[in-house]
Amino acid sequence: MSDRFDVVIAGAGPAGAQCARDLAQRDYEVLVLETESEDAFPKQSNKSTAGTFPSMMGSFGIPDDVVMNYTDSVVLESPTDHFEQTQPGAVLEFADFKRFLVRDGREDGATYRFDSRVSKPITRDDEVVGVRYNGDEEVYADIVIDATGPAAPLAKDLGVSDLERRNQAIGIEWEMEGVDVSHPDYADLTDAMMLRLDHDIVPGGYSWVFHTGGDTAKVGLCYIQNETYHTSADDVTIDDFLQNWLDDDPRFDDAERLEGKQHRGSAHIQPPDRLSTEGFMAVGDTVPSVDPLWGQGIDKCMQSGRAAAVTADHCLTGVNDTSADEMSIYADLWHRDVAPQAAVRLLMTHLLYYAPNERYDRFMRDLHRLDTDTLSAANNGSFRAIRNLLHREDLSLLRNFASENSTIVTQALWHKLPSF
Ligand SMILES: Cc1cc2nc3c(=O)[nH]c(=O)nc-3n(C[C@H](O)[C@H](O)[C@H](O)COP(=O)(O)OP(=O)(O)OC[C@H]3O[C@@H](n4cnc5c(N)ncnc54)[C@H](O)[C@@H]3O)c2cc1C
Repeated sequence: MSDRFDVVIAGAGPAGAQCARDLAQRDYEVLVLETESEDAFPKQSNKSTAGTFPSMMGSFGIPDDVVMNYTDSVVLESPTDHFEQTQPGAVLEFADFKRFLVRDGREDGATYRFDSRVSKPITRDDEVVGVRYNGDEEVYADIVIDATGPAAPLAKDLGVSDLERRNQAIGIEWEMEGVDVSHPDYADLTDAMMLRLDHDIVPGGYSWVFHTGGDTAKVGLCYIQNETYHTSADDVTIDDFLQNWLDDDPRFDDAERLEGKQHRGSAHIQPPDRLSTEGFMAVGDTVPSVDPLWGQGIDKCMQSGRAAAVTADHCLTGVNDTSADEMSIYADLWHRDVAPQAAVRLLMTHLLYYAPNERYDRFMRDLHRLDTDTLSAANNGSFRAIRNLLHREDLSLLRNFASENSTIVTQALWHKLPSF
Protein backbone atom coordinates (compact mmCIF):
# COMPACT_ATOMS: atom_id res chain seq x y z
CA MET A 1 0.00 0.00 0.00
CA SER A 2 1.50 3.34 -1.07
CA ASP A 3 2.09 5.79 1.75
CA ARG A 4 2.68 8.78 -0.49
CA PHE A 5 0.06 10.65 -2.56
CA ASP A 6 -0.26 14.00 -4.31
CA VAL A 7 -3.12 14.98 -2.00
CA VAL A 8 -4.43 13.43 1.23
CA ILE A 9 -7.93 14.43 2.36
CA ALA A 10 -9.24 13.73 5.86
CA GLY A 11 -13.02 13.11 5.80
CA ALA A 12 -15.40 11.74 3.16
CA GLY A 13 -18.22 14.28 3.61
CA PRO A 14 -19.53 16.38 0.72
CA ALA A 15 -16.50 18.71 0.87
CA GLY A 16 -13.77 16.05 0.99
CA ALA A 17 -15.45 13.64 -1.43
CA GLN A 18 -16.13 16.41 -3.97
CA CYS A 19 -12.54 17.61 -3.75
CA ALA A 20 -11.39 14.01 -4.35
CA ARG A 21 -13.71 13.70 -7.38
CA ASP A 22 -12.29 16.85 -8.96
CA LEU A 23 -8.67 15.89 -8.26
CA ALA A 24 -9.11 12.31 -9.50
CA GLN A 25 -10.64 13.62 -12.73
CA ARG A 26 -7.43 15.60 -13.20
CA ASP A 27 -5.43 12.36 -12.66
CA TYR A 28 -3.93 13.30 -9.31
CA GLU A 29 -3.08 10.52 -6.85
CA VAL A 30 -5.57 11.31 -4.12
CA LEU A 31 -6.26 9.46 -0.87
CA VAL A 32 -9.32 10.03 1.35
CA LEU A 33 -9.12 8.85 4.99
CA GLU A 34 -12.55 8.34 6.57
CA THR A 35 -13.04 7.45 10.22
CA GLU A 36 -16.26 5.45 9.75
CA SER A 37 -16.28 1.86 8.54
CA GLU A 38 -17.33 1.30 4.95
CA ASP A 39 -20.13 -1.19 5.75
CA ALA A 40 -22.07 1.28 7.87
CA PHE A 41 -21.02 4.48 6.06
CA PRO A 42 -22.41 7.00 6.73
CA LYS A 43 -23.68 6.36 10.26
CA GLN A 44 -22.55 9.01 12.75
CA SER A 45 -22.06 11.48 9.90
CA ASN A 46 -25.51 10.87 8.37
CA LYS A 47 -26.61 14.13 9.89
CA SER A 48 -28.19 16.31 7.24
CA THR A 49 -31.74 17.19 6.17
CA ALA A 50 -30.07 17.60 2.78
CA GLY A 51 -32.41 20.11 1.22
CA THR A 52 -30.68 21.60 -1.79
CA PHE A 53 -31.27 23.49 -5.03
CA PRO A 54 -30.83 22.74 -8.78
CA SER A 55 -27.66 24.85 -9.00
CA MET A 56 -25.88 22.39 -6.70
CA MET A 57 -27.25 19.32 -8.51
CA GLY A 58 -26.24 20.68 -11.92
CA SER A 59 -22.82 22.03 -10.97
CA PHE A 60 -21.68 18.77 -9.42
CA GLY A 61 -23.51 16.20 -11.60
CA ILE A 62 -25.67 14.75 -8.82
CA PRO A 63 -27.95 11.97 -10.13
CA ASP A 64 -31.73 11.80 -9.60
CA ASP A 65 -31.53 8.51 -7.71
CA VAL A 66 -30.24 10.22 -4.55
CA VAL A 67 -33.29 12.55 -4.47
CA MET A 68 -36.14 11.67 -2.07
CA ASN A 69 -38.45 14.43 -3.29
CA TYR A 70 -38.32 17.33 -5.72
CA THR A 71 -39.83 20.44 -4.15
CA ASP A 72 -41.48 23.50 -5.72
CA SER A 73 -41.31 26.12 -3.02
CA VAL A 74 -39.73 27.34 0.16
CA VAL A 75 -41.97 28.51 3.00
CA LEU A 76 -40.98 30.73 5.93
CA GLU A 77 -43.27 30.57 8.96
CA SER A 78 -43.42 32.99 11.89
CA PRO A 79 -45.60 32.38 14.97
CA THR A 80 -48.73 33.79 13.27
CA ASP A 81 -47.92 34.19 9.57
CA HIS A 82 -46.07 32.62 6.68
CA PHE A 83 -44.47 33.55 3.37
CA GLU A 84 -44.15 31.22 0.40
CA GLN A 85 -41.73 31.62 -2.48
CA THR A 86 -41.61 29.56 -5.66
CA GLN A 87 -38.19 27.95 -5.66
CA PRO A 88 -37.48 24.53 -7.17
CA GLY A 89 -35.40 22.35 -4.88
CA ALA A 90 -34.62 18.76 -3.93
CA VAL A 91 -34.51 16.88 -0.64
CA LEU A 92 -31.72 14.33 -0.90
CA GLU A 93 -31.29 10.97 0.81
CA PHE A 94 -28.06 12.15 2.47
CA ALA A 95 -26.55 8.69 2.98
CA ASP A 96 -27.13 7.73 -0.69
CA PHE A 97 -25.69 11.09 -1.72
CA LYS A 98 -22.51 10.55 0.33
CA ARG A 99 -22.10 7.01 -1.02
CA PHE A 100 -22.56 8.28 -4.59
CA LEU A 101 -19.75 10.82 -4.14
CA VAL A 102 -17.40 8.09 -2.88
CA ARG A 103 -18.33 5.65 -5.67
CA ASP A 104 -17.97 8.28 -8.38
CA GLY A 105 -14.59 9.47 -7.09
CA ARG A 106 -13.33 5.90 -6.96
CA GLU A 107 -14.37 5.32 -10.56
CA ASP A 108 -12.08 8.19 -11.52
CA GLY A 109 -9.20 6.74 -9.52
CA ALA A 110 -9.47 8.23 -6.01
CA THR A 111 -8.34 5.88 -3.20
CA TYR A 112 -10.47 5.59 -0.06
CA ARG A 113 -9.35 4.13 3.26
CA PHE A 114 -12.23 3.67 5.71
CA ASP A 115 -11.74 2.91 9.43
CA SER A 116 -9.02 5.58 9.32
CA ARG A 117 -9.27 8.19 12.05
CA VAL A 118 -6.99 11.15 11.36
CA SER A 119 -5.48 12.72 14.48
CA LYS A 120 -2.56 15.05 13.68
CA PRO A 121 -0.70 16.75 10.86
CA ILE A 122 2.92 15.78 10.22
CA THR A 123 5.00 18.90 9.68
CA ARG A 124 8.56 19.57 8.56
CA ASP A 125 9.99 23.09 8.87
CA ASP A 126 6.45 24.48 9.33
CA GLU A 127 5.25 22.81 6.14
CA VAL A 128 2.49 20.19 6.36
CA VAL A 129 3.85 17.03 4.71
CA GLY A 130 1.41 14.33 5.85
CA VAL A 131 -0.99 13.08 8.48
CA ARG A 132 -1.02 10.61 11.35
CA TYR A 133 -4.04 8.34 11.63
CA ASN A 134 -5.24 5.38 13.71
CA GLY A 135 -2.59 6.08 16.35
CA ASP A 136 0.77 5.63 14.68
CA GLU A 137 -0.05 5.14 10.98
CA GLU A 138 1.41 7.80 8.68
CA VAL A 139 0.78 8.90 5.12
CA TYR A 140 2.59 11.62 3.21
CA ALA A 141 1.43 14.05 0.51
CA ASP A 142 2.34 17.31 -1.22
CA ILE A 143 -0.94 18.78 -0.01
CA VAL A 144 -3.11 17.83 2.99
CA ILE A 145 -6.77 18.84 3.27
CA ASP A 146 -8.90 18.80 6.42
CA ALA A 147 -12.51 17.99 5.45
CA THR A 148 -13.62 16.44 8.74
CA GLY A 149 -16.40 18.96 9.42
CA PRO A 150 -16.64 20.55 12.88
CA ALA A 151 -14.15 17.98 14.31
CA ALA A 152 -11.34 19.75 12.40
CA PRO A 153 -8.38 17.99 14.14
CA LEU A 154 -5.79 19.15 11.59
CA ALA A 155 -7.05 22.72 11.14
CA LYS A 156 -7.25 23.21 14.93
CA ASP A 157 -3.76 21.79 15.49
CA LEU A 158 -2.33 24.14 12.85
CA GLY A 159 -4.22 27.17 14.17
CA VAL A 160 -6.03 27.54 10.85
CA SER A 161 -9.49 27.14 12.36
CA ASP A 162 -10.79 28.47 15.66
CA LEU A 163 -14.29 27.04 15.99
CA GLU A 164 -15.91 28.40 19.17
CA ARG A 165 -18.51 26.51 21.17
CA ARG A 166 -20.59 29.65 21.72
CA ASN A 167 -21.03 29.87 17.94
CA GLN A 168 -21.96 26.22 17.53
CA ALA A 169 -25.43 25.50 16.18
CA ILE A 170 -26.68 22.01 17.01
CA GLY A 171 -29.50 20.28 15.16
CA ILE A 172 -31.65 17.16 15.35
CA GLU A 173 -34.30 15.75 13.06
CA TRP A 174 -36.44 12.68 12.50
CA GLU A 175 -37.83 11.32 9.28
CA MET A 176 -41.54 10.88 10.01
CA GLU A 177 -44.68 9.43 8.41
CA GLY A 178 -48.28 10.47 9.00
CA VAL A 179 -47.39 14.18 8.79
CA ASP A 180 -50.29 16.44 7.72
CA VAL A 181 -48.51 18.60 5.13
CA SER A 182 -51.71 20.39 4.06
CA HIS A 183 -53.29 21.25 7.40
CA PRO A 184 -55.97 23.96 6.90
CA ASP A 185 -54.54 26.21 9.65
CA TYR A 186 -51.04 26.36 8.19
CA ALA A 187 -49.22 26.93 4.90
CA ASP A 188 -49.53 24.11 2.38
CA LEU A 189 -46.25 22.21 2.71
CA THR A 190 -46.87 19.78 -0.15
CA ASP A 191 -43.57 19.59 -2.05
CA ALA A 192 -42.14 22.43 0.06
CA MET A 193 -39.18 23.03 2.35
CA MET A 194 -40.43 24.98 5.37
CA LEU A 195 -38.45 26.85 8.02
CA ARG A 196 -40.26 28.16 11.11
CA LEU A 197 -38.91 31.10 13.13
CA ASP A 198 -40.51 30.77 16.57
CA HIS A 199 -38.74 31.00 19.95
CA ASP A 200 -41.68 29.27 21.63
CA ILE A 201 -40.64 26.10 19.80
CA VAL A 202 -36.89 26.54 19.96
CA PRO A 203 -35.33 29.59 21.66
CA GLY A 204 -32.44 31.01 19.62
CA GLY A 205 -33.00 28.78 16.61
CA TYR A 206 -35.51 27.57 14.04
CA SER A 207 -37.43 24.43 13.17
CA TRP A 208 -38.31 22.83 9.85
CA VAL A 209 -40.50 20.44 7.86
CA PHE A 210 -39.06 19.25 4.53
CA HIS A 211 -41.64 17.22 2.59
CA THR A 212 -40.22 13.92 1.34
CA GLY A 213 -43.36 12.73 -0.50
CA GLY A 214 -46.79 11.34 0.47
CA ASP A 215 -47.31 11.83 4.20
CA THR A 216 -43.57 11.69 4.99
CA ALA A 217 -41.28 14.56 5.94
CA LYS A 218 -38.02 15.39 7.67
CA VAL A 219 -38.93 17.27 10.84
CA GLY A 220 -36.27 18.92 12.98
CA LEU A 221 -34.86 21.95 14.73
CA CYS A 222 -31.57 23.62 15.59
CA TYR A 223 -30.26 26.37 17.87
CA ILE A 224 -27.06 28.19 18.73
CA GLN A 225 -25.68 26.80 21.99
CA ASN A 226 -24.81 30.02 23.79
CA GLU A 227 -25.79 31.84 26.95
CA THR A 228 -28.29 34.17 25.27
CA TYR A 229 -30.88 31.42 25.22
CA HIS A 230 -29.31 28.33 26.72
CA THR A 231 -27.42 28.54 30.03
CA SER A 232 -25.46 25.65 31.52
CA ALA A 233 -28.21 25.42 34.17
CA ASP A 234 -30.72 24.84 31.39
CA ASP A 235 -31.59 21.15 31.49
CA VAL A 236 -33.98 21.18 28.51
CA THR A 237 -32.31 19.13 25.80
CA ILE A 238 -32.64 19.60 22.05
CA ASP A 239 -34.60 16.33 21.98
CA ASP A 240 -37.07 17.85 24.49
CA PHE A 241 -37.60 20.90 22.28
CA LEU A 242 -38.38 18.65 19.31
CA GLN A 243 -40.67 16.42 21.38
CA ASN A 244 -42.60 19.46 22.64
CA TRP A 245 -43.12 20.73 19.09
CA LEU A 246 -44.27 17.31 17.92
CA ASP A 247 -46.72 17.20 20.88
CA ASP A 248 -48.12 20.72 20.33
CA ASP A 249 -48.37 21.20 16.55
CA PRO A 250 -51.53 19.57 15.09
CA ARG A 251 -49.68 18.70 11.88
CA PHE A 252 -47.97 15.93 13.85
CA ASP A 253 -51.07 14.53 15.62
CA ASP A 254 -50.87 11.26 13.66
CA ALA A 255 -47.17 11.37 12.88
CA GLU A 256 -44.74 8.56 13.78
CA ARG A 257 -40.95 8.57 13.75
CA LEU A 258 -39.42 6.19 11.21
CA GLU A 259 -37.28 3.63 13.01
CA GLY A 260 -33.56 4.45 12.86
CA LYS A 261 -34.11 7.60 10.79
CA GLN A 262 -32.76 10.15 13.21
CA HIS A 263 -30.08 12.63 12.15
CA ARG A 264 -28.12 14.99 14.38
CA GLY A 265 -25.05 17.18 14.07
CA SER A 266 -23.61 20.65 14.34
CA ALA A 267 -22.11 23.55 12.41
CA HIS A 268 -20.53 26.85 13.41
CA ILE A 269 -21.94 30.31 12.71
CA GLN A 270 -18.93 32.63 12.90
CA PRO A 271 -16.46 34.42 10.65
CA PRO A 272 -13.81 32.19 9.08
CA ASP A 273 -10.27 32.33 10.41
CA ARG A 274 -7.34 31.49 8.13
CA LEU A 275 -8.23 28.92 5.48
CA SER A 276 -4.83 27.55 4.49
CA THR A 277 -1.15 27.40 5.29
CA GLU A 278 1.95 25.83 3.75
CA GLY A 279 0.85 22.55 2.10
CA PHE A 280 -2.57 22.64 3.79
CA MET A 281 -6.20 23.72 3.25
CA ALA A 282 -9.35 23.47 5.37
CA VAL A 283 -12.65 22.87 3.51
CA GLY A 284 -16.36 22.41 4.20
CA ASP A 285 -17.67 22.79 7.76
CA THR A 286 -14.08 22.66 9.05
CA VAL A 287 -14.28 26.40 8.44
CA PRO A 288 -17.71 28.00 8.82
CA SER A 289 -19.49 29.01 5.62
CA VAL A 290 -22.62 30.94 6.38
CA ASP A 291 -25.93 30.54 4.62
CA PRO A 292 -28.39 32.47 6.75
CA LEU A 293 -31.83 31.38 5.67
CA TRP A 294 -31.76 27.86 4.34
CA GLY A 295 -28.85 26.58 6.42
CA GLN A 296 -27.44 25.40 3.09
CA GLY A 297 -24.16 23.75 3.96
CA ILE A 298 -23.92 21.12 1.25
CA ASP A 299 -23.59 23.47 -1.72
CA LYS A 300 -21.07 25.64 0.15
CA CYS A 301 -19.04 22.60 1.18
CA MET A 302 -18.99 21.18 -2.34
CA GLN A 303 -17.91 24.57 -3.68
CA SER A 304 -15.12 24.81 -1.12
CA GLY A 305 -13.98 21.28 -2.07
CA ARG A 306 -13.86 22.42 -5.68
CA ALA A 307 -11.96 25.63 -4.81
CA ALA A 308 -9.41 23.51 -2.92
CA ALA A 309 -9.03 21.19 -5.93
CA VAL A 310 -8.46 24.18 -8.24
CA THR A 311 -5.85 25.52 -5.80
CA ALA A 312 -4.10 22.13 -5.57
CA ASP A 313 -4.01 21.92 -9.36
CA HIS A 314 -2.50 25.40 -9.54
CA CYS A 315 0.12 24.66 -6.87
CA LEU A 316 1.10 21.15 -8.01
CA THR A 317 1.05 21.62 -11.79
CA GLY A 318 0.86 25.35 -12.45
CA VAL A 319 3.61 26.78 -10.26
CA ASN A 320 5.00 23.66 -8.52
CA ASP A 321 4.95 25.53 -5.22
CA THR A 322 2.87 24.75 -2.12
CA SER A 323 4.08 27.70 -0.07
CA ALA A 324 1.56 29.52 2.15
CA ASP A 325 1.56 32.34 -0.37
CA GLU A 326 0.53 30.17 -3.33
CA MET A 327 -1.96 28.16 -1.22
CA SER A 328 -3.67 31.42 -0.21
CA ILE A 329 -5.30 31.44 -3.64
CA TYR A 330 -7.78 29.11 -1.96
CA ALA A 331 -8.82 31.89 0.43
CA ASP A 332 -9.34 34.26 -2.51
CA LEU A 333 -11.55 31.72 -4.27
CA TRP A 334 -13.42 30.96 -1.02
CA HIS A 335 -14.24 34.62 -0.36
CA ARG A 336 -15.15 35.26 -3.98
CA ASP A 337 -17.08 32.10 -4.91
CA VAL A 338 -17.95 30.03 -1.82
CA ALA A 339 -19.14 32.53 0.77
CA PRO A 340 -19.08 36.03 -0.69
CA GLN A 341 -20.22 38.85 1.61
CA ALA A 342 -19.52 36.59 4.61
CA ALA A 343 -19.81 39.45 7.12
CA VAL A 344 -23.19 40.67 5.87
CA ARG A 345 -24.56 37.13 5.70
CA LEU A 346 -23.32 36.46 9.21
CA LEU A 347 -25.15 39.52 10.48
CA MET A 348 -28.34 38.34 8.78
CA THR A 349 -27.97 34.92 10.39
CA HIS A 350 -27.60 36.41 13.86
CA LEU A 351 -30.59 38.68 13.34
CA LEU A 352 -32.64 35.67 12.35
CA TYR A 353 -31.59 33.67 15.39
CA TYR A 354 -32.04 36.49 17.92
CA ALA A 355 -34.96 38.67 16.77
CA PRO A 356 -38.03 38.35 19.03
CA ASN A 357 -41.18 36.53 17.88
CA GLU A 358 -43.08 39.76 17.09
CA ARG A 359 -40.23 40.79 14.81
CA TYR A 360 -40.62 37.54 12.89
CA ASP A 361 -44.27 38.40 12.17
CA ARG A 362 -43.21 41.82 10.90
CA PHE A 363 -40.54 40.15 8.76
CA MET A 364 -43.32 38.13 7.06
CA ARG A 365 -45.39 41.28 6.45
CA ASP A 366 -42.32 42.93 4.86
CA LEU A 367 -41.74 39.94 2.61
CA HIS A 368 -45.36 40.10 1.39
CA ARG A 369 -44.92 43.81 0.68
CA LEU A 370 -41.48 43.81 -0.95
CA ASP A 371 -40.24 42.58 -4.31
CA THR A 372 -40.25 38.77 -4.61
CA ASP A 373 -36.47 38.77 -5.13
CA THR A 374 -35.76 40.45 -1.79
CA LEU A 375 -35.52 37.21 0.15
CA SER A 376 -33.09 35.52 -2.24
CA ALA A 377 -31.04 38.70 -2.54
CA ALA A 378 -30.80 39.05 1.26
CA ASN A 379 -29.81 35.40 1.55
CA ASN A 380 -27.04 36.03 -0.97
CA GLY A 381 -25.72 38.87 1.18
CA SER A 382 -27.13 41.83 -0.76
CA PHE A 383 -26.66 44.78 1.55
CA ARG A 384 -29.48 46.68 -0.16
CA ALA A 385 -31.95 43.77 0.29
CA ILE A 386 -31.02 43.35 3.97
CA ARG A 387 -31.40 47.10 4.44
CA ASN A 388 -34.93 46.88 3.04
CA LEU A 389 -35.77 44.31 5.70
CA LEU A 390 -34.38 46.30 8.64
CA HIS A 391 -36.27 48.80 10.83
CA ARG A 392 -35.38 51.26 13.58
CA GLU A 393 -36.45 48.71 16.19
CA ASP A 394 -33.57 46.48 15.03
CA LEU A 395 -30.94 49.00 16.21
CA SER A 396 -30.63 47.51 19.70
CA LEU A 397 -30.34 44.02 18.23
CA LEU A 398 -27.61 45.23 15.88
CA ARG A 399 -25.85 46.98 18.76
CA ASN A 400 -25.89 43.80 20.89
CA PHE A 401 -24.59 41.80 17.99
CA ALA A 402 -21.71 44.23 17.46
CA SER A 403 -20.76 44.32 21.15
CA GLU A 404 -20.82 40.53 21.48
CA ASN A 405 -18.85 39.99 18.27
CA SER A 406 -15.82 42.19 18.47
CA THR A 407 -14.16 40.70 15.42
CA ILE A 408 -12.76 43.01 12.81
CA VAL A 409 -15.38 41.79 10.36
CA THR A 410 -18.24 42.68 12.65
CA GLN A 411 -16.85 46.06 13.58
CA ALA A 412 -16.34 46.90 9.92
CA LEU A 413 -19.90 45.91 9.24
CA TRP A 414 -21.21 47.93 12.13
CA HIS A 415 -19.59 51.06 10.69
CA LYS A 416 -21.52 50.50 7.47
CA LEU A 417 -24.87 50.64 9.25
CA PRO A 418 -25.16 54.04 11.01
CA SER A 419 -27.93 55.29 8.76
CA PHE A 420 -30.61 52.94 10.18
C1 LIG B 1 -29.27 18.66 11.48
C2 LIG B 1 -28.61 19.24 10.25
C3 LIG B 1 -29.40 19.55 9.14
C4 LIG B 1 -28.80 20.07 8.00
N1 LIG B 1 -29.58 20.33 6.92
C5 LIG B 1 -29.03 20.81 5.77
C6 LIG B 1 -29.83 21.02 4.62
O1 LIG B 1 -31.05 20.82 4.62
N2 LIG B 1 -29.21 21.47 3.49
C7 LIG B 1 -27.87 21.71 3.45
O2 LIG B 1 -27.36 22.10 2.39
N3 LIG B 1 -27.09 21.52 4.53
C8 LIG B 1 -27.63 21.07 5.68
N4 LIG B 1 -26.85 20.85 6.78
C9 LIG B 1 -25.41 21.17 6.70
C10 LIG B 1 -24.64 20.12 5.90
O3 LIG B 1 -25.06 18.82 6.23
C11 LIG B 1 -23.15 20.27 6.21
O4 LIG B 1 -22.79 21.61 5.95
C12 LIG B 1 -22.30 19.33 5.37
O5 LIG B 1 -22.63 17.98 5.59
C13 LIG B 1 -20.84 19.52 5.74
O6 LIG B 1 -20.06 18.76 4.89
P1 LIG B 1 -18.52 18.50 5.22
O7 LIG B 1 -18.02 17.61 4.15
O8 LIG B 1 -17.83 19.75 5.48
O9 LIG B 1 -18.53 17.76 6.63
P2 LIG B 1 -19.28 16.49 7.16
O10 LIG B 1 -20.55 16.25 6.42
O11 LIG B 1 -19.32 16.69 8.63
O12 LIG B 1 -18.33 15.29 6.80
C14 LIG B 1 -17.12 15.09 7.51
C15 LIG B 1 -16.64 13.67 7.28
O13 LIG B 1 -15.40 13.52 7.97
C16 LIG B 1 -15.43 12.33 8.75
N5 LIG B 1 -14.52 12.54 9.88
C17 LIG B 1 -14.75 13.26 11.01
N6 LIG B 1 -13.67 13.23 11.81
C18 LIG B 1 -12.72 12.50 11.17
C19 LIG B 1 -11.38 12.13 11.47
N7 LIG B 1 -10.76 12.51 12.62
N8 LIG B 1 -10.70 11.37 10.57
C20 LIG B 1 -11.27 10.97 9.41
N9 LIG B 1 -12.56 11.28 9.08
C21 LIG B 1 -13.25 12.06 9.94
C22 LIG B 1 -16.89 12.15 9.13
O14 LIG B 1 -17.19 10.80 9.47
C23 LIG B 1 -17.59 12.61 7.85
O15 LIG B 1 -17.76 11.57 6.91
C24 LIG B 1 -27.40 20.31 7.95
C25 LIG B 1 -26.61 20.01 9.06
C26 LIG B 1 -27.20 19.48 10.19
C27 LIG B 1 -26.33 19.15 11.38
